[in-house]
Amino acid sequence: MLHFTSDLDPNIHLAFTSREEGNLALHVNDDPRLVAENRSRLEDTIGVRRFSLNFMNQVHSADVFTVDPVARTSWLEPTAPTCDGLIDPTGEYPLAVMVADCLPVLFVGKDIATDRTLTAATHAGRRGLLDGILTRTVEELRAHGASLIEAIIGPSICGRCYEVSPQMAEESETLRTGIRTETRWGSSGLDLPATAQRELSSLGVQVRQSQVCTLEDENYFSYRRTPSAGRLAGLIWSAA
Ligand SMILES: [Zn+2]
Repeated sequence: MLHFTSDLDPNIHLAFTSREEGNLALHVNDDPRLVAENRSRLEDTIGVRRFSLNFMNQVHSADVFTVDPVARTSWLEPTAPTCDGLIDPTGEYPLAVMVADCLPVLFVGKDIATDRTLTAATHAGRRGLLDGILTRTVEELRAHGASLIEAIIGPSICGRCYEVSPQMAEESETLRTGIRTETRWGSSGLDLPATAQRELSSLGVQVRQSQVCTLEDENYFSYRRTPSAGRLAGLIWSAA
């Protein structure tokens, strides 16, 4: 597990799981009991209450919701909210985002006037990124009072590995100048982590990158390498 501490609030922890923590997604035809065990073990490891992580039913949208924690005794019901970004204006509730090649982006916001901490977790694949989910997340954090914002972009497929058709590269480039790249093997590609970093920096967000490519580093799940792969999780929680 990659672990970071927030620059804005030392009580806020940010992490990205690896294959060691197992598959954390219920939607990839894995045995739900094993996924539940992996999630419980993970909650024990990071020291949050069981069934307290707030996952999303991610659909490559640009929808960002404010977290609405429910009392759980099962991961199967009630189902997680359908969205691709979760914001917690209180910074109290642990948030989780699942990926395997897409970008898991974790945010910490600080309301300087009241010294209040806010958190967010966002899933940004090609579609969500182009549709503006990162900007949406920053706007929502600011609407909730964040005056300073930092973000960490977790393990995801890099610009030298993410191959797309020339047509898709062209279409994406018209929406985000500079997103088109060439892969290591010379075909058309997209650089999502660099594009995300540029977008967030232009909004005044302090950005860190995990620098891990999920396709190249076999310690992480990659959908491109193994379509039946599980999902890793980006996690943000308060240790206060
Ligand atoms: Zn790569």
